[in-house]
Amino acid sequence: MRQLIIAGNWKMHKTITEAVSFAQELKSSLDNVGTGVEVVVCPPFTALAPVAEVLKGSSIALAAQNMHWEKQGAYTGEIAPAMLKEIGCKYVVLGHSERRQYFGETDENVNKKVMSALENQLIPILCVGETLEQREAGITEKTVEAQTVGALAGLSPEQVSNLVIAYEPVWAIGTGRTASDDDAQQVNNFIRRVIASKFGSNAAEAVRIQYGGSVKPGNAKGLMSQQDIDGALVGGASLKVEDFAGIIKNSL
Ligand code: 13P
Repeated sequence: MRQLIIAGNWKMHKTITEAVSFAQELKSSLDNVGTGVEVVVCPPFTALAPVAEVLKGSSIALAAQNMHWEKQGAYTGEIAPAMLKEIGCKYVVLGHSERRQYFGETDENVNKKVMSALENQLIPILCVGETLEQREAGITEKTVEAQTVGALAGLSPEQVSNLVIAYEPVWAIGTGRTASDDDAQQVNNFIRRVIASKFGSNAAEAVRIQYGGSVKPGNAKGLMSQQDIDGALVGGASLKVEDFAGIIKNSL
């Protein structure tokens, strides 16, 4: 059985003050949510340490939104894996479509980051997903397969088992246009089959595959009840406690 994982990707939102009060409120509103779901928040770098302090002793896990693959060095403006580990991050989001689109990240970069995260005991949340043009051209599967295989090159089946993959169709991100339950299930199932063919059936059964793209309290139940959808990566609706907690509660 795969435990649901619902992560809130705050993107470039929330100052330290805002992040800390959000974390305090979220903690109390999830007081008796149980163990059926793992809840994760992904604040911007500046708020990671203060939010870690608030979440100490709670079951809410912390993720960073990106990192560099190198251990350290002359990389102005970058953050190394050990820096995130020391703060208490359990996860790191890698290869988000916004990083690919605006900051030129390639499957090769993402692969280096995935390897480096694992070497530092950080669990990657690897994002894949097609653009609207790619969907309309009928190359959704080809695109998602290339991103998945590219990012996971050189990993062992055991390493893949512990990963989280987030299927986020670019056309559904921040647009209010969610993939239908069936469309999301189909692609998540396809990703699981890709994992099975490259890394074997044990890894495919174990790996958790989220859906992301305009997830809200109202559509969470339908999406989360699909066979191959093991959680959500939530953007906009993770910024308000009421919405994010609503998604979590409706998913159970
Ligand atoms: P939205 O939920 O705002 O569509 O964003 C999804 C996303 O990109 C999460 O990483």
